[in-house]
Amino acid sequence: MIQKPKGTLDFIGREGYIYNYLYNYTMNFMHSYNYEFIKIPTFESTELFYRGVGETTDVVNKETYDFIDKGNRNMTLRPEFTAGVVRSYIENKLYVDQIKKLYYFGSAFRYERPQSGRLREFTQMGVEVFGIKNAYLDAEVISLAYRFLSGLGITNLKVVINTLGDTESRLNYNKVIKEYLEKDRDNLCDICKERLDKNPLRILDCKYDGERDYIKNAPKTIDYLNEESKNYYEEVKHALEILDIPFEEDPTLVRGLDYYSHTVFEIKSDLEFLGKANTLCAGGRYDNLVKTLGGPETPGVGFAAGIERIITILNELEIYIPEEKLDVFIMNLDNSGFAFQILDDLRNSGYSCEIDYTGKSMKNMWKLVDKYNPSYVLIIGEDEVKSDYITVKDNTTKEETKVKTSELMDYLDMNL
Ligand code: ATP
Ligand code: MG
Repeated sequence: MIQKPKGTLDFIGREGYIYNYLYNYTMNFMHSYNYEFIKIPTFESTELFYRGVGETTDVVNKETYDFIDKGNRNMTLRPEFTAGVVRSYIENKLYVDQIKKLYYFGSAFRYERPQSGRLREFTQMGVEVFGIKNAYLDAEVISLAYRFLSGLGITNLKVVINTLGDTESRLNYNKVIKEYLEKDRDNLCDICKERLDKNPLRILDCKYDGERDYIKNAPKTIDYLNEESKNYYEEVKHALEILDIPFEEDPTLVRGLDYYSHTVFEIKSDLEFLGKANTLCAGGRYDNLVKTLGGPETPGVGFAAGIERIITILNELEIYIPEEKLDVFIMNLDNSGFAFQILDDLRNSGYSCEIDYTGKSMKNMWKLVDKYNPSYVLIIGEDEVKSDYITVKDNTTKEETKVKTSELMDYLDMNL
């Protein structure tokens, strides 16, 4: 038997329904914030991710699915969306608009060690806002993420924020942190040794070294901000207060990807069953990324949320997700094809409708009724066809009514 690849999931039945529900929820929710949907390719040139996400990050260092296509090009399945969205933003000159607010929903791929909450194919929804640097936009993006999750009924969320400051502040800080970490060089893991030379800030985010006290006690970005960066951070916090978003500051928070500046944030859940995979979404400001990837200097801010982690919470907490009910199930006891005409009419009029295809016993059909739980059951037999009426059973009250075929639609319109 062929099995699914490690770290992938099938969503079947109720989970399939919930996945689709979250997709629709995302579409509706984002409309209320006036963001535009963007669909980008599932794979891009490998180089995009090296330049965009950064070669000292976990994601690009060891987690990408790379392949050489038949034309000998180096390709990579997207491990995240931001780099691809920025590529598209530049390629399609979306910067002609002063501000561009985009959102996405789709699969991302990372060759991670499969464990609870960590998949090799997972789904991200997220947003990217380009063109304007304004503390209220950072706050909008954070509050959007928070309201997206709380709107689903997920409580006990923790919003954690920090700032990395602008380029000048980061350069200042990099010198200090490099000196500090240099003293610890021998204790660092191999990747962090490399990071020490290329991008020492990343060491604070390492899954191994980041846990050690020496690293935890390292100098903090917040103490090396210039005036402008400090003020910007204060403005973001003020805006969050105005939007009534509860948040905590964590001066040790840096993000795993290379492109961030100023605001960084994560939203975590304290639910125990999530274990270490308790970050539901993460993001921040990236004022240098568009330029790095060859576009004009353009500020940006965004986040990505992990849909599977959200599904785990919805399932574990048994959060109510409204099911769409089947309107009508047709029990067909006639051979003339009449029932199929009715079926087609109902579906064309927008009713959700199913018919029995098994052609088995009444008992069997009632089993299907139990399974589908429709609002109404239509019983169509030879008698009904001859005398031009249909027996309609209200599946809630169990009451049966005889309805003239020509009046069926009116009857359902009135009752559904
Ligand atoms: P971590 O530090 O936990 O590895 P990350 O920094 O790699 O996280 P991001 O790249 O910021 O995570 O991804 C944003 C969100 O996508 C995460 O908060 C999480 O919800 C989800 N996510 C990331 N990687 C995975 C994965 N392998 N499986 C499932 N969801 C994931
Ligand atoms: Mg990761």
